[in-house]
Amino acid sequence: MDLHLNETPEALSYHSKTQRARVITEGWTAANLYCPTCGAPHLIQFEASRPMADFHCEHCKQQFEQKSIEKKPSHLPRKINGSGYDAMMERLESPDNPHLLLLYHKDGMINNLVLIPKYFITTSIVEKRKPTWPKGRSKEWIGSYIWLEGIPECGKIYIIKDGVPEDPKKVLELYRKTKPLKARDLESTGWLLDVLKCVEKIGTSTFTLSQLYVFESDLKKKHPENRHIKDKIRQQLQELRDKGFIEFKGRGKYRTLF
Ligand SMILES: [Zn+2]
Repeated sequence: MDLHLNETPEALSYHSKTQRARVITEGWTAANLYCPTCGAPHLIQFEASRPMADFHCEHCKQQFEQKSIEKKPSHLPRKINGSGYDAMMERLESPDNPHLLLLYHKDGMINNLVLIPKYFITTSIVEKRKPTWPKGRSKEWIGSYIWLEGIPECGKIYIIKDGVPEDPKKVLELYRKTKPLKARDLESTGWLLDVLKCVEKIGTSTFTLSQLYVFESDLKKKHPENRHIKDKIRQQLQELRDKGFIEFKGRGKYRTLF
């Protein structure tokens, strides 16, 4: 996999640096990237006018949105810009919801490429931004932030890390392991991932129920409509056990399996 980004005649025809970077990085993906969810050799680029989705896989029919960011991060930033808030919310419910590809490049080289499977983007980590009035528009615009720091680590799958491509087999395996986290609907998936994130924050491979209850008020903020947070935490632990992410050790003790 060649990690150099090449200027193309199409890219050079754009004056805007951002547009040029978008054309170049999307060109790279179309030419070099395999499908990180099924392993098919290529991703197909959509026509440019399509909102949000940039690529699709002819084999597994999954869609991908690529965000390219000119930066050499030592670790992923806490948050990134999402699209318009209403469009973002609508997209989360849609069957065509794309997976996210975050491509970091600097000085013509790709440093990091991260796949965030679509089900990791839940309403809990999407924040509504303050309205702005774009120049020359008659209507206000409300954007969104995607809080990457709220996503459990297993939802950040590196395809390229610090300038080195990961083994595609490993990428596919990591993706396959996360698939059971997609629950029956957005709200249920959100709960499952929020509790998994709390387990991760404890930071040890064994933990107790009382250590998790410390996060009760944080979870209440994310799910204000729920009055029985502790019950919900216990229920999510059962689901995480059934999906192979944790193990019950008895007497309110648990062990992580991820
Ligand atoms: Zn595929």
